[in-house]
Amino acid sequence: MIPSPGGELLRAPLFHTPRNPFRESSALESYADGGLLIRAGRVATCGDYTSVRDAYPEVPTVDLRGGFLLPGFVDTHIHFPQLRVLGGLGRSLLDWLEHCALPEEARMADHSHACRVARAFVHAMVSHGTTTALVFGAHFAPATAALFEAADAAGLRIAAGQVVSDRLLRPELHQTPQRAYRESNLLIERFHRRGRLTYAVTPRFAMSASEAMLEVCQTLLREHPGLLFQTHLNENVQEIEQVARLFPWAADYLAVYERFGLSQPNAVMAHDVHPTASQLDRLAASGTAIAHCPSSNAALGSGLFPLKRHIDARVRCALGTDVGGGIGFGMLKEGLQAYLLQRVAPGGVLLDAAHLLYLTTLAGAEALGLGDETGDFRAGKSADLVYLRPPADSPLAAVLERDPSPEQALAAIFTLAGAESVREVRVEGSIVYRSASTEKR
Ligand SMILES: [Zn+2]
Repeated sequence: MIPSPGGELLRAPLFHTPRNPFRESSALESYADGGLLIRAGRVATCGDYTSVRDAYPEVPTVDLRGGFLLPGFVDTHIHFPQLRVLGGLGRSLLDWLEHCALPEEARMADHSHACRVARAFVHAMVSHGTTTALVFGAHFAPATAALFEAADAAGLRIAAGQVVSDRLLRPELHQTPQRAYRESNLLIERFHRRGRLTYAVTPRFAMSASEAMLEVCQTLLREHPGLLFQTHLNENVQEIEQVARLFPWAADYLAVYERFGLSQPNAVMAHDVHPTASQLDRLAASGTAIAHCPSSNAALGSGLFPLKRHIDARVRCALGTDVGGGIGFGMLKEGLQAYLLQRVAPGGVLLDAAHLLYLTTLAGAEALGLGDETGDFRAGKSADLVYLRPPADSPLAAVLERDPSPEQALAAIFTLAGAESVREVRVEGSIVYRSASTEKR
């Protein structure tokens, strides 16, 4: 849908976190009767509805009261080929990879299958309110291209890349470093900076990448400005031991990536459940961001994420669903999982609604180098938003009837809202998803 040229004023209660609540107080901004003015796909202003309307009386109002406006969610760690292995409970990482994830990832060699999964995957993200994501592609270049095409067609903002590996997975998932270099280059030429797409160099993890393959990753990052880098780090104790055996020269897991210049401000590394103090200091110094995936960490028994140690060391952290090791596409649910696990983690951080909103929106944007583009409703940013309205007979609707404070309302949204409450999703002001029930509105 083309947004109206003179702009629109969306009227609904709205929440955003234009500041980092781990560093600043009053990070949450909310307006019980909010107005979000969108012009040419950008946020022109947001605030109390009456004052925005009085300042821009010529702009038509879209009355969305009864629901809530939040910035679009940013998922910083998710695997496209793993949509169909969600729910593979009862295993730990290496066992789960061997028996659940990798056989399914091998099916991505079938291009029509890959195209079908790509469309379903993109739809699942957007229908849960995710507007921006950093995505692990497939080990196959055509399947990875299918993901980019599906995201582009849907209007979603993604960074993604072909997963490169040359050992210890399944032979059909391995490429030689030369082939990985050639195919990655072709994908970069075709998709990097096309519309809302960014290319991310993506070695699966150190275990499955030889030194030659990591060198290819380093070369790609040097040769093409603006690429992101993503991989896994310190997820599982057995994985960490394997990495130590494979790279005997490395002081620790992170040192493997550091040797090839891969720990840097454009890098997002998933998990880091078991870091040493030295690794935390080095992650902070390099500007590398961590994608914390609490559902996956619990489902695979990887461990409890030491969030406080990351914050104290000033390591940048955001959230990821880690489909299919995680439990689904909902970033609200992921925020709730972060809260729950921090409640039971030794030395856990007591997260409030502002922390959860920040972690699911602006923190992710900042991790992806998009902190000036998306993640909150500050003027000038892309109008990326989720409109949530709980079904009339839902527990969330019942809670909200009590007219809670903004913080309590937001906490209830994180606790109770799922895809059934996502009514409309926009990227750059354009509607990229609308639920069937909203169309009847
Ligand atoms: Zn992962």
